[in-house]
Amino acid sequence: MEQFVKELARGNPRAIARAITYMEEGTEEANELLARLQSPLGAVRQVHIIGITGAPGAGKSSLVDQLMGYLRSQGLRLAVLAIDPSSPFTGGAVLGDRVRMMRHALDSGIFIRSMGTRGSGGGLSRSVRDVLQVLSYAPFDVILLETVGVGQAELDIVYVADTVTVVLTPVGGDQVQAAKAGLMEIGDVFLINKADIPGAERTAKDVRDMLHVADHKEDWEPPVVLVSALQNTGIAEWWAECERHFAFLAQEERLQTRRGRARVQAMRELLQQNMWREMERKLRLDERYIRLQEYVQSGEWSVQRAVREILHDIFKE
Ligand code: GDP
Repeated sequence: MEQFVKELARGNPRAIARAITYMEEGTEEANELLARLQSPLGAVRQVHIIGITGAPGAGKSSLVDQLMGYLRSQGLRLAVLAIDPSSPFTGGAVLGDRVRMMRHALDSGIFIRSMGTRGSGGGLSRSVRDVLQVLSYAPFDVILLETVGVGQAELDIVYVADTVTVVLTPVGGDQVQAAKAGLMEIGDVFLINKADIPGAERTAKDVRDMLHVADHKEDWEPPVVLVSALQNTGIAEWWAECERHFAFLAQEERLQTRRGRARVQAMRELLQQNMWREMERKLRLDERYIRLQEYVQSGEWSVQRAVREILHDIFKE
C-alpha cells in the first residue's frame, strides 16, 4: 500500500487507473487508500478543479479537447474526468473517450477517464468525489470535470469543482433553457460557444444582462467569454478567466470555505444514503410499518397520512 501511494504521488498512470477502479468498486482497498490520501487537516492542494457543464450539444467535449491542447502547450499536467450520469458504464469505454485517448496516448501529462454514475441514487455518486480525491493526490495542476449526458450531475458539479464553466450557444432558446435548468446560478465563468455562427454577440449581451441582475455570490461577477471550439478561438481567454477566478478564491480563504462546504455536502449525501438503507432494514421487520404499507396499498390511507404517522413514530414529534 505504501508503495502504491508513492506511485500515485508520482503520477504513475497505471497506479492512478487502479486506484480509480478501487473507488468505483467501493472495495475495502478503496477505504484504506482514501484514509491514506486524506490528510487529517484536509489540507488544500493547489490543483485547480474546473467543472464544465451545459446542455448536450453545446460543445463541452469539443471545448475540453481544445483546452487540453492549450494547457499542455502551457506545460501544465492535467486529468480529464468525464462523468455520465445516464450511463452505468465506466472505465473509459465511451467512444469519444477512446478517440481522445488515442490522440493523447503518448502524452504522459494527460490522464483521461470517464465514469458512468447511473444508479447512484441522486446527487453526485460518492465515487466521483473519491476519484477526485485520488486525482488530487497525483501531481496534476488541473482537473477538468466534464458532465456528459443530462441530469442532476450538471448542477451537482458545483459541489466538487472550484470553478464552474457553463457552456451556452447562440442556438435558439439556449439561455432560456439554461436559466430554467438552474445553470445560471452555478456558473463562475460563462462561455458562449459556437461564436463562429451568427448571434453570438447578441447572446453574450443577453447573458451578461441576465447575470447582472442576478445576485452574485461572494462579489464575483461571472465573466462571459465568446469562444469557438471549431475554430479554436477564445480558449486562452477562457483559461485566463478560470485562473482569475482561482486567484479570487485564493483570497480571504474562499477556497478553503468552498472545499469545506463541499465536504459537508458529501457528508450529508452519504448520510442520506446510509440512513435510508439502515432505516429500511429496520422498518422491514416493523409490524406497524408493514400494516401501514397494507393500508396504503388498499387505498384505505393516503400516502401522506402514512408518512406522517411513520415520521411521528420515529421522531416522536
Ligand atoms: P457536448 O455534447 O456538449 O459535449 O457537445 P460536442 O462537443 O459533442 O459538440 C456538439 C456538436 O457541436 C458537434 O457536432 C460539434 O462539432 C459542434 N460544435 C462544437 N463546438 C462548435 C463550435 O465552436 N462551432 C460550431 N459551429 N460547432 C461546434
